[in-house]
Amino acid sequence: MVEELSPQCSAKGCRAPAVWALRWNNPKLHTPDYRKTWLACDDHRESLGGFLDLRGFLREVTPFGAIS
Ligand SMILES: [Zn+2]
Repeated sequence: MVEELSPQCSAKGCRAPAVWALRWNNPKLHTPDYRKTWLACDDHRESLGGFLDLRGFLREVTPFGAIS
C-alpha cells in the first residue's frame, strides 16, 4: 500500500518514494530565480536529471528529506 502523504518519484508510472529533488528552470518560461521541482527515486534520478540536463534546464539536485 502506498501512503498518500509519502511523496513519490515523478517518473511516469513509478511509485517509488522520492529520495531526490531535481530543481530546474526553463529560461523561456520562468524567471531566473524560479525553480520547478521534480522528485525522483534512486532509479530515476539519472534519467529525469539527464532529460533536464540535455535541455539545459537542470540547476541542482538535492537529497529529498522525506523522512525527518
Ligand atoms: Zn522512480
